[in-house]
Amino acid sequence: MLVEMAVAAIRASRLTKDYGSGHGLFDLDLQVSPQEVFGFLGPNGAGKTTTIRLLMGLIHPTSGGAYVFGLDSGRDAVEVKRRVGYLPGDVPEFGSLRGSEVVAYLGGMRGRIDRPTVRALAERFDLDLNRRFREYSSGNKQKLAIVLAFMHRPELLILDEPTSGLDPLNQQEFYALLQETRDAGATIFLSSHVLSEVERVCDRVGILRSGRLVKVAQLDELRHIRVHQVEIEFAPGSEVPESRLRSTLGLEDVKVDGNVVTCSVHGSFDGLLHAIAGSKVTNLVSTEPSLEELFLSFFDEPRPKALPS
Ligand code: ATP
Repeated sequence: MLVEMAVAAIRASRLTKDYGSGHGLFDLDLQVSPQEVFGFLGPNGAGKTTTIRLLMGLIHPTSGGAYVFGLDSGRDAVEVKRRVGYLPGDVPEFGSLRGSEVVAYLGGMRGRIDRPTVRALAERFDLDLNRRFREYSSGNKQKLAIVLAFMHRPELLILDEPTSGLDPLNQQEFYALLQETRDAGATIFLSSHVLSEVERVCDRVGILRSGRLVKVAQLDELRHIRVHQVEIEFAPGSEVPESRLRSTLGLEDVKVDGNVVTCSVHGSFDGLLHAIAGSKVTNLVSTEPSLEELFLSFFDEPRPKALPS
């Protein structure tokens, strides 16, 4: 099959950067296919930036390898930088250079610059390229970083928390840009701890935690992890089937307060319905946590909860 023969846009093989004391990135195995949009999620300090810097050849791995379109990120770093649109987590300082001079400088280094694209991007984000870099607000610096990453219409974008510092309107504009870039056939790898961002644009997500990849999943798959918070009100005077509820598999956090029961339902509702069959229920409210809450509960655990594989 053609897809199997295509060189991966990104490949990490047992990629490790050991900063000592358990910090860094460890044994990352990951493959991102051409034209895929991959979200790299994780809390602060999980190792997202470390991974991205390894992919860009900005730091060298302790062991293992990072490859971009089959190029070794360490050995072929110049060619990797040419082919990738990179948006760093921290925008570098360009002092008194004007926006347009920064564009020309980096465009010259890459050997390719698409002027109509630069103009269109600057207009789209309402960025004045005649201003000096040091006069830019942090939001404008981030906009310039976006222009720099997208201006040569790269086939792969590696974006480290791209919307940080952008106001909500510009965030929306950025999401639209991502969709268009993806529709035009580019591959996108973006790190984030904002789930809604990832939810909006990604095909697959990887979850990184303490330097280790704990899960890779299709976004749809994550949405199908069913956890519902349920509140059941039994008719006054009718018996609450407490022991049946407590012993039902898939029901957790069962709390009884008078004739009201709250619990969380993991997976199917069959067990719950069976447990309350025969009781007089006057109200049943079920709410599904957002993906955001799901991830938070996932990250809050001392150890990652097992997600279905
Ligand atoms: P954030 O969301 O806060 O940007 P991150 O997921 O990008 O976090 P990294 O910046 O990759 O995380 O950091 C991963 C871990 O490696 C952290 O514990 C960090 O303190 C540590 N680390 C990063 N760079 C270095 C360095 N140069 N020397 C020592 N430790 C480092």
